[in-house]
Amino acid sequence: MEFTLRPELAELRRQVRTFVDERIVPVEAQIIAEDRQKKYDTLRGLSEQARAAGLWTPHLPERLGGRGLGITGMCTLFREMGRSPVGARVFNCDAPDQGNMDLLLSAGSAQIQEQYLMPLARGETTSAFSMTEPAPGAGADPSNLRTRAVKDGDHWVIDGHKWYSTGGGDAAFLIVMARTAGEPGRGKSGPNDASMFVVDRHAPGVEHVRDVGVMAEPLLAHREAEMRFHSVRVPESAVLGNIGDGFRLAQKRLVPARLTHCMRWLGLADRTLELCKAYITTRESFGHVLARHQLIQKMIADAATDIHAGNLMTWHCAWMLENGQAKEARPYSSMAKTHVARTLCKVLDDAIQMHGSLGFSEDKPFASWYRHARSARIADGPDEVHEVLIARDYLTAGLNLLVG
Ligand SMILES: Cc1cc2nc3c(=O)[nH]c(=O)nc-3n(C[C@H](O)[C@H](O)[C@H](O)COP(=O)(O)OP(=O)(O)OC[C@H]3O[C@@H](n4cnc5c(N)ncnc54)[C@H](O)[C@@H]3O)c2cc1C
Repeated sequence: MEFTLRPELAELRRQVRTFVDERIVPVEAQIIAEDRQKKYDTLRGLSEQARAAGLWTPHLPERLGGRGLGITGMCTLFREMGRSPVGARVFNCDAPDQGNMDLLLSAGSAQIQEQYLMPLARGETTSAFSMTEPAPGAGADPSNLRTRAVKDGDHWVIDGHKWYSTGGGDAAFLIVMARTAGEPGRGKSGPNDASMFVVDRHAPGVEHVRDVGVMAEPLLAHREAEMRFHSVRVPESAVLGNIGDGFRLAQKRLVPARLTHCMRWLGLADRTLELCKAYITTRESFGHVLARHQLIQKMIADAATDIHAGNLMTWHCAWMLENGQAKEARPYSSMAKTHVARTLCKVLDDAIQMHGSLGFSEDKPFASWYRHARSARIADGPDEVHEVLIARDYLTAGLNLLVG
């Protein structure tokens, strides 16, 4: 076990932290408040600076302008970017673009990479991932998938209804999961019945129905899009991997994507705790600063312990992926995801509590961050579905808890 960062990674981490603290945090509230065009302009300016500093898309290979960092390297940097809710976007490492880039890189045809991956990697476009459907379609249970793709000559024709395609309205393209065999429902749908297609957002038949109103106002431009696909024709080169690979590719995308969420969430939880420290060590109540009260210390101790545990879980799982143990990593990624999502929600809720009325106000960012954080327990699989998986692996597959 080695917890010391190699020197070049430690240096990169320092650079990202300095960039986030000195250039992003001072303007993050301004960016969030700006109108759409101004937001883009400010973000573009910061992205140019990140690119000039050599910190752009570090997860991508060097030929695409990145640094070729493996997932443990990403862990280190994404935590720093996540300290600001707008940080990852500045470095072109935000969801869903970052996971989509990885997917196109590993499963996209040469044409798809040229047409869609390159502009995405350069930060000229954004993208969306369209798996979830309104009931009775695919949600926590992907076997309910109802969107269909049918072969017609040398094209595929897609019909279906999706929602929560984050950023779908503005995206240049969507990765659409569609059924190419079988029927919706448990027992009727097999592991090879779904496929993924890259669909141009402006292809004939792609309808952006609306942006769904949600608990949290968007911090950037990413809204939850409801989309309809009316006989949308795509060429065979738009298929990711092979026909029938959809569910496998979804897992391949989701396990690391879950971890990158964890990394960003850990960064935000850590910064939240730092902000709490600043308040409770100066605000006096009943003759002492708040930090002297044991009930406050309990909240700090719980948060510190949960953040540390989440960090180790995420780190361990990333290490497994890097060592070719993607299948074995699945239950550990579920543990990390549920634990870190809950930790972020709890730390933010306690931050509001420790700050009292100030915490509840918009003068502090916790209320807004909390509204966003709440989705972490639902998106990329709700807590309960991950817990079912963890329990199953423990009860039937001998999941090892005392690793190392
Ligand atoms: C902010 C946000 C962004 C999102 N972005 C995207 C995106 O970009 N692309 C995309 O495709 N999807 C996206 N999603 C959708 C997300 O992946 C789904 O919400 C999630 O998979 C759950 O599906 P569902 O909402 O249909 O819940 P349902 O399937 O209706 O489940 C409802 C609830 O039932 C419970 N439940 C379900 N199964 C079980 C079980 N086996 N045991 C016990 N309880 C269970 C859970 O509590 C669950 O929350 C996003 C969601 C949110 C909130």
